[in-house]
Amino acid sequence: MTVPRTPGPFDAGPGDAEPGGADERTLELARNLAALRQRVAQASAAAGRDPAPITLIAVTKTWPAQDVRRLASLGVLDVGENRDQEASPKAEQCAGWGLTLRWHLVGQLQRNKARSVARYADVVHSVDRLPLVEALDEAAAGAGRLLTALVQVSLDGTPGRGGAHPDDVLRLADAIAARTSLRLGGVMAVAPRDADPRQAFDRLVALSADVVREHPEAGMVSAGMSGDLEAAVAAGATHLRVGAALLGQRPPLG
Ligand SMILES: *Cc1c(COP(=O)(O)O)cnc(C)c1O
Repeated sequence: MTVPRTPGPFDAGPGDAEPGGADERTLELARNLAALRQRVAQASAAAGRDPAPITLIAVTKTWPAQDVRRLASLGVLDVGENRDQEASPKAEQCAGWGLTLRWHLVGQLQRNKARSVARYADVVHSVDRLPLVEALDEAAAGAGRLLTALVQVSLDGTPGRGGAHPDDVLRLADAIAARTSLRLGGVMAVAPRDADPRQAFDRLVALSADVVREHPEAGMVSAGMSGDLEAAVAAGATHLRVGAALLGQRPPLG
């Protein structure tokens, strides 16, 4: 008699190379995830923080949808992508597999992508100008969805990498909060190159406090990547966006 068994995290899924067996890539991701959680735990302990409420977002750009499925089997349900062109088909494929995930758009976003993004994204981390607020709100309304939006802050004033000037953060936060199909989540930043990430993230957390004073529910602080997540945890980040430390070094973009 065969006893039906509930599939476990290491069972093969659609497209796996070794049906019925533990897949090497899943094991690799599981090891990376354990090491990453250890880093977050240590950084939290050093900062006197509880690591439990810190959300790990797996930034899966350049990696196949199959890796998203593998990470989901390991309990990672927050997925980050930086380009709509890549995120949209990946989200569709994962939905087809019956996965319920939270998709985070973390890269610079053009207004003409708002309609596509509003169909699958749950959180947009890169809102840095008013026209984008309007476009996302209209797109979300059209799709019958509620999008969480974070104000991306430029901490070094370097144009081109995205992010609003710190002086404009409150105005953008107010604009998002006033929209019916957007929910203000909080703030996001990428640490400037050649700068102390801790100082940068302290600045972001100070801006977050300004936002929270007016919008008490908007306490998300999205900061920290593979190379600087300790500094982000120390500063008070609530959401870490981790790619390479979890999935491996990305192949160079062709
Ligand atoms: C790629 C990316 C990340 C992840 O970076 P890693 O160094 O691979 O951890 C985080 N945030 C944004 C905005 C990204 O584009």
